[in-house]
Amino acid sequence: MPMSEDFKNRLYPITRQLAEHYGTPFHIYDEAGIRQTGEQLKKAFSGIDGFREYFAVKALPNPRILELMKEMGFGFDCSSIPELIMSRHIGGRGEDIMFTSNNTSVEEFRFAAADGGCILNLDDVTLIPKVPDFPELICFRYNPGPRRTGNIIIGNPVEAKYGISHEQVISAYRMAMECGAKRFGLHTMVASNERDYTYMVETARMLLQIAELVESELGIQFEFLNIGGGFGIPYRPEDHALDLASMSHQMTDLFAEFRASHGYAPRMYMESGRWMTGPHGALITRAINHKSTYRQYIGVDACMSALMRPAIYDAYHHLEVIDSCDQEATEVYDVVGSLCENNDKFAVQRPLPPISEGDLLAIHDTGAHGYAMGFQYNGRLRPKELLLRTDGSVELIRRAETSEDYFRTLEFTTDSWCP
Ligand SMILES: *Cc1c(COP(=O)(O)O)cnc(C)c1O
Repeated sequence: MPMSEDFKNRLYPITRQLAEHYGTPFHIYDEAGIRQTGEQLKKAFSGIDGFREYFAVKALPNPRILELMKEMGFGFDCSSIPELIMSRHIGGRGEDIMFTSNNTSVEEFRFAAADGGCILNLDDVTLIPKVPDFPELICFRYNPGPRRTGNIIIGNPVEAKYGISHEQVISAYRMAMECGAKRFGLHTMVASNERDYTYMVETARMLLQIAELVESELGIQFEFLNIGGGFGIPYRPEDHALDLASMSHQMTDLFAEFRASHGYAPRMYMESGRWMTGPHGALITRAINHKSTYRQYIGVDACMSALMRPAIYDAYHHLEVIDSCDQEATEVYDVVGSLCENNDKFAVQRPLPPISEGDLLAIHDTGAHGYAMGFQYNGRLRPKELLLRTDGSVELIRRAETSEDYFRTLEFTTDSWCP
């Protein structure tokens, strides 16, 4: 089910007033839902010592959201300097932060090491000598290549630019030891939006096997294994949810078996983004035009600058007309934004109840990779973000972009160069 009934029951009755107070469009996130999901995750994995979620900052990079993650004891998965700045700004320090970058620059390594540092997760062996002041704690991102068939979205690991190959694993950790590393982690990320829990269990099994292999060759005992993110959510009403209980039971068993045969077990980390916040966000937008040509088009006041997933992944986002969600879907619409790109459509040939100008629409599951992916192409600016608090109040957590923001990068000191 996209978007919980609970979120809906708290959001829809106040949407008209929110639209009047804040103006549309806006993303709104559900604090109660995010906390509930976080607690559910902790409980599910409580049988694995030292389990920790490192929230993938790129999914919903807003300091207020990161504060919620911090309150739940989670760390932060970052891959850029601004993400590091944001995580540190809300108090993330040292091993609260995992820096999983790829094609990393020396400047990024310097920044990652400064200000309390972080857990460095290296994407390649050639980066080892490029790390200034090699840290004591190091992690590598493992790419299993042909050993795993990729899930549908992230694709075949052989074609993925990420991580070190299977053949490089031993030498990578050996080189790191020669550079002074004494503490070790191992990471992978082989799935995206995967709702088949057995795929995730196989990922945990794979990492435990690599840990065993590296231990037997180099005598390393891993402190943690990071199974990455990629837990899927149901975007379509008919989609089944990821079976968290079965997944956590089987992973817990795997770690227990490892402990029984090795006398120790690494901690398990994960870096979920979508699963943590995806269903707990909605984009509220108003119908401003209704056009009938070869198809019926409902033009809304948001566009792909607020939500790119339908345009770039052909992703389905469930959509409801706030005041007529119980009405029969007697019309078929393309729900579109105003960008001069024909893929600027939130819904294509979607059966919906009749929509009139002024109606408010809720586009579901925009809590992850929604606002964050937005861009300014065509001078279309990004909307505001709101947080629905557990006490029912609503807080503005990011204002909408203005034309001044758009023009800001044109304010600079003139700098000419002649040959
Ligand atoms: C994007 C990303 C994540 C989060 O992915 P979700 O699908 O949102 O869970 C986690 N780790 C890494 C390295 C990523 O690139």
